[in-house]
Amino acid sequence: MKPAAFDYVCAESVEHAVQTLAEAGDDGKILAGGQSLMPMMNFRLVKPSVLVDINRVTGLDRVELRGGRLALGALVRHHMTATDALIARHVPVLHHAMKHVAHLTVRNRGTFCGSVCHADPAAEMPMMSLLLNASVYIASPRGARTVPAQDFFVGSLITALEPDELVTEIEIDTLPDGSGWGFEEFARRHGDYALAAVAVTMERRDGAASNVRLALMGVGDTAVRMPQVEEMLEGGGFDDALLDKAVETLRQQINPNSDLNASSDYRRHLAGVLTRRALRDAWVRAAA
Ligand SMILES: Cc1cc2nc3c(=O)[nH]c(=O)nc-3n(C[C@H](O)[C@H](O)[C@H](O)COP(=O)(O)OP(=O)(O)OC[C@H]3O[C@@H](n4cnc5c(N)ncnc54)[C@H](O)[C@@H]3O)c2cc1C
Repeated sequence: MKPAAFDYVCAESVEHAVQTLAEAGDDGKILAGGQSLMPMMNFRLVKPSVLVDINRVTGLDRVELRGGRLALGALVRHHMTATDALIARHVPVLHHAMKHVAHLTVRNRGTFCGSVCHADPAAEMPMMSLLLNASVYIASPRGARTVPAQDFFVGSLITALEPDELVTEIEIDTLPDGSGWGFEEFARRHGDYALAAVAVTMERRDGAASNVRLALMGVGDTAVRMPQVEEMLEGGGFDDALLDKAVETLRQQINPNSDLNASSDYRRHLAGVLTRRALRDAWVRAAA
């Protein structure tokens, strides 16, 4: 299959990229890794008149530690996220999650920011952005703005981005030393998009859980954080009764879609099973 005809612009800078997008009106698209955009163009699900390739823009391929947060530039590939020493040291839950993302060839091209912009509800990066309180840095000809991940994901493949906007970087929390984390996902085959996944971080103080965070994907139109369940676990000792209550509440609060791969009921059940495992792992790691 081939895409519809389009003009190709190799952007020389962020300014050049957003100016070209603005000139294209509603009809331009940024090309990052191309691992989601190109298949969609080949199926003619999207037909941009202009492709703005940012791969030659310098300075966008860095991971930087900034005052307790990590900034990932728009050209940080999945492979880099999976192998970067700063990420492995400061955000081990993200380092681990990357093993579940696609295959090596896709990870060599696909970008963290591109995945967040694509906003697939079955992709790991939107979920990790929510878990890690990400800030999305955005440039356009009208200036710069920052959007919290919580406000960025609007629906399946829909974000708060305007047509003339480019995500330049995404900043995420690092985890305090000694934090526990858990990550669980279920996919039919390794490297496939998951049916559901869960990521957890927490600290453990005086035998009780604190700063619990819990995010899920595959259970609705966007990845989600579960603040009510997090609050329920805060200060708890993680016995079976508390975990049962947390899982029950979580299952009541999600409303997964049914599709060719799984029914809503199956996904709801799966989300509970994965959550229980991820919470247990995080609790045990936090104690170590
Ligand atoms: C076989 C296969 C298996 C895969 N499996 C998984 C998986 O298991 N888990 C997973 O998470 N993903 C998976 N993916 C998707 C992969 O992770 C993509 O790389 C990712 O979704 C998009 O990143 P990209 O850099 O390739 O973006 P592109 O495909 O270049 O762009 C995607 C969209 O985001 C926009 N965009 C990209 N970057 C920016 C930016 N900086 N600013 C504004 N807009 C931007 C584009 O215009 C486009 O609309 C898979 C892909 C393939 C082909």
